[in-house]
Amino acid sequence: MAPTLTFMTVGCARVAHLLPVDVASATGDQAPFSRQSQALLYRHRGKTSRLWQDKQVFSSVQNLVSKIFLMILLQFTSRRLLYQACSSLKPPPIGIQGPCWEMARPSSSMADFREVFAKAKHIAVITGAGVSAESGVPTFRGAGGYWRKWQAQQLATPEAFSRNPSRVWEFYHYRRELMLSKSPNAAHVAIADCEARLSKQGRKVVVVTQNIDELHRRAGSKDLLEIHGSLFKTRCTNCGNVAENYKSPICKALEGKGAPDPDTQDACLPVGDLPRCEKQGCSGLLRPHVVWFGETLDSNVLTEVEKELDVCDLCLVVGTSSVVYPAAMFAPQVAARGVPVAEFNMETTPATTSFSFHFQGPCGTTLSEALARHESEII
Ligand SMILES: [Zn+2]
Repeated sequence: MAPTLTFMTVGCARVAHLLPVDVASATGDQAPFSRQSQALLYRHRGKTSRLWQDKQVFSSVQNLVSKIFLMILLQFTSRRLLYQACSSLKPPPIGIQGPCWEMARPSSSMADFREVFAKAKHIAVITGAGVSAESGVPTFRGAGGYWRKWQAQQLATPEAFSRNPSRVWEFYHYRRELMLSKSPNAAHVAIADCEARLSKQGRKVVVVTQNIDELHRRAGSKDLLEIHGSLFKTRCTNCGNVAENYKSPICKALEGKGAPDPDTQDACLPVGDLPRCEKQGCSGLLRPHVVWFGETLDSNVLTEVEKELDVCDLCLVVGTSSVVYPAAMFAPQVAARGVPVAEFNMETTPATTSFSFHFQGPCGTTLSEALARHESEII
């Protein structure tokens, strides 16, 4: 049994490295452990043993140890057993990450998520464009995502507005009017209903969204941090005043303008006819109160977000890739605190493996099930 015990010492350190590797590669021509590991075996058996200097004998023992290793590896098919073997600790609570847990694939067990959800007192929900996509809201990014012949990153910039405020206002006027024909979907409703229900139990749900369409608000979400601003707010370029604005059209000159077809000619409206500030004595040019490409987030909003992420005990990442902004900024910092993070998305990303849960599919479907009333809720 000595070789087995020796290997356990070396093997535990190596299991984590072998985990992501296809088992077939470990059973092929390649030896399952390195020269360094072989040297450790030598040293453990004693440098004076002439028997161990015989390469043929070593080779046969190596084969034996390889077989034993594979038998042990097959026994470690359960993640929780693996965690115990690596850390000599009790298995982690469901959803809490340990050293080997981070290497494992996230759970897609809805029952396990529901256990964590039932205990959570402060839930932060980070949402992105994927949530609104299910309501048919275009992003004007990616393949086919054009307004006339431009994508959002060409129009949603301070430079584009400075060069051609009429064109940029046409773009935003079109988006505002389009939103009047869209409605919140099942994902928005599930989040808003969850907030209303949990608030009666003294529990909190806060939504941190990059979406500017206000669909969360229309679904009934109250505790909402819109980190990219809103299509329905304006900011004065002269006095800086921020105001809600739900007018349709936002100004007379833009009525009937903003058609998205590539052949449409720019309206080329005079700046004086574009939306103007209504504060007495100002009448400066208004711009959409949204964060454009190349601009920084509002520091007050960001401070609020940081506060929520520091105290939440469950984090949901919904409809946004976890490798790109803003989820890339927020979710990993929550996961690093050992707080369970659950991702609801149409696809996996490289960051998915650092989270506790991943639910693939339309978030309207997955989220409705995930956030439904738990049997332990008494109100
Ligand atoms: Zn003003």
